[in-house]
Amino acid sequence: MAWWFEIKLWKRVFLGLALGVAFGFAVSQTMAPEAAAALLDRVKIVGDVFIAMIRLVIIPLIFMTLVAGVLALGDPAKLGTIGLKTIFLYLATTFFANIIGLSMGVLFRPGANVDLGDAEPRLVTAEAAGFWDRIVAMATKNPFEQFFAGNPMTLALTAVLVAIAIIVAVRSTRAGEKKPASGVLFVSLFALGVAAASGDILVVIFSSIVFGVVVLFLGATGAPVSRFFSYASDKVLGVTQWIMELAPFGVFALIAWVAGTKGLETFTAVFWLAVAVYLGCFLHMGLIYGGIVKFGLRLPFINFFRGILDAQMVAYSTSSSSATLPVTISNVSKNLGVSKSVAGSVLPLGATINMDGTALYLGIVALFTAQAFGYQLEPYHFALIAVTAALVSIGAAGIPSASLFLLATVLEVFDVTPEHTALVVGFIFPFDRLLDMMRTVVNVTGDAAVATTVAKWEGEIDEEVFRSKAAQ
Ligand code: ASP
Repeated sequence: MAWWFEIKLWKRVFLGLALGVAFGFAVSQTMAPEAAAALLDRVKIVGDVFIAMIRLVIIPLIFMTLVAGVLALGDPAKLGTIGLKTIFLYLATTFFANIIGLSMGVLFRPGANVDLGDAEPRLVTAEAAGFWDRIVAMATKNPFEQFFAGNPMTLALTAVLVAIAIIVAVRSTRAGEKKPASGVLFVSLFALGVAAASGDILVVIFSSIVFGVVVLFLGATGAPVSRFFSYASDKVLGVTQWIMELAPFGVFALIAWVAGTKGLETFTAVFWLAVAVYLGCFLHMGLIYGGIVKFGLRLPFINFFRGILDAQMVAYSTSSSSATLPVTISNVSKNLGVSKSVAGSVLPLGATINMDGTALYLGIVALFTAQAFGYQLEPYHFALIAVTAALVSIGAAGIPSASLFLLATVLEVFDVTPEHTALVVGFIFPFDRLLDMMRTVVNVTGDAAVATTVAKWEGEIDEEVFRSKAAQ
């Protein structure tokens, strides 16, 4: 078995991806449709288990790395500058995503000549939470609410979190560290609150920062807590890497399911839409992120893309940037040399609010709709589509197909009728997974590019790691 582990992880995940595509196609071509679907559904369970495993570490990982990060920074003011730079970069990159998306929509005219006659209308009522609503909810939601509501998942997660805290504390005591007991008490209690808030990553981010800043103000008294968190965050990252050993199998299963059930035939119906989305996504990643890393940061961009390949492949197969988050944090800190302070704060925020792929996609689909139904667009409509697409991308959750159901908000800009909106959503929905996979890769890559940039600006990057090691 040793030979298997000697192969670099990203190569093994890539192998899983390639074999998954081949297997999915083979099954769908050689077996009867029902039997093929049944087999692929069964195979997909391996992928679902993989996703469930990474999801389990999301909350402890954000909590531990973020608190450790705040404590390592040592100065709440520095956190403020990191926050401002992060938000600025997130907005700036989304702006370019908008431009690229709209250009693709104009260039390829994906909606011209499509026949929506057979589409089954899908009513969409979901509304994107506004930016300010999310910010306000972040600070005003009671983190204990869900806990006391007795949600069994929350209770289980809390138990896992407290268990990790205790095991780590006991081990650190054995390793001869001084007085971790007070830290353990603090952490266990606070872990309860954070786990309780598991429904909303933004609440976890906010609570962790507040907790970290409080400990900073404790000064010398808080020193054992700092030591504890530094140790604990390393351990949780270790657990993430452990779970990543499942990635080749999980990715294989998920991709086989996609390839076998949503294969190439379906792709032809939305051919130009798919071309516009895929090309737009590649251009955005190459030009904007590649450009930032190469010309803005003067770092080798090949190493950047190589370093986050695991995260990209997991994003591609799961279509969920929040499920991918632990892998992104692990890749960015281990392979790109970004400090825990920056990776732990910038990436969780990015996974919830920075979705360049989504913004790019929504712009293209808006133009697709206008072209398909013959809505006349004035230049100001383009600007409005761009702004609404950006706002919706901020409000969308990092889960599969999240943004398709928020499309109505963007289409309102040029008064698309509810019937037309329902038709477009109904038309795209069966193919959305293939488009979703690609935009999720961009969403995750954008977070990594911004984290790298902020780290470089703040002197929080180990360039030797970035330049030499790349993908483990
Ligand atoms: N699936 C995307 C993500 O998780 C969100 C979207 O639907 O655009 O990043």
